[in-house]
Amino acid sequence: MWWRKAYREQPPPKRGSEVGEQLTEEEKNDTYSNRCPDCGSKGSFLEGPHGGLAVNFKCGHCDASFNDMGPFGIERLSKGAPLEVKDG
Ligand SMILES: [Zn+2]
Repeated sequence: MWWRKAYREQPPPKRGSEVGEQLTEEEKNDTYSNRCPDCGSKGSFLEGPHGGLAVNFKCGHCDASFNDMGPFGIERLSKGAPLEVKDG
């Protein structure tokens, strides 16, 4: 007699970083390949003000903005807008 396990391991729920938090590994990998972790558009990053080691950049597509602190990681400054057409 044998058993088939009905139980399946569930992956942890997918969760993006919140404003003021470090990007998740997955989100960081996205930015390293020049892809916006929020809207998925490629090559749409715009470089913003520099402050010391840190460089601000944002997605020109969905307006998500980030603070790249080099060796200290990347912090989220704002979330991107949903991909629907924006008013105004
Ligand atoms: Zn975006």
